[in-house]
Amino acid sequence: MKNFGFSVNKSRVIEYDQNDRALFYYLMRVEPSVSLCIACGACTATCSAGAFSSLDFHKIMLSIRRGEKVYIAKEITQCMLCGKCQLVCPKNVNTRGVILQILSFLQSSQL
Ligand code: SF4
Ligand code: SF4
Repeated sequence: MKNFGFSVNKSRVIEYDQNDRALFYYLMRVEPSVSLCIACGACTATCSAGAFSSLDFHKIMLSIRRGEKVYIAKEITQCMLCGKCQLVCPKNVNTRGVILQILSFLQSSQL
């Protein structure tokens, strides 16, 4: 084969369908307001912990739908449960409730 001086990158497709979405289904049952999130990012913009840590609650909300449990488990412990995100959420998501249920789920699933 002729060498054109470049190579084709490996596929960067992320197969979300193959992730375990048990956390999402659990939250839909115990804290249904999780489904109202429109990923606006207001929670992240106001987050007290986000000012001095890598906590990004908007990204956690996306990760819940994508089944990225390892990322969520690593980040969620930085939350101080101050509730500011709940005050600014335009969709009235019970963010503190979501966070507490995530912690409860992770504890019971021994991730
Ligand atoms: S502020 Fe509410 S609607 Fe916006 S990303 Fe955060 S949880 Fe979702
Ligand atoms: S409750 Fe947690 S995620 Fe929400 S603003 Fe406070 S520290 Fe950030």
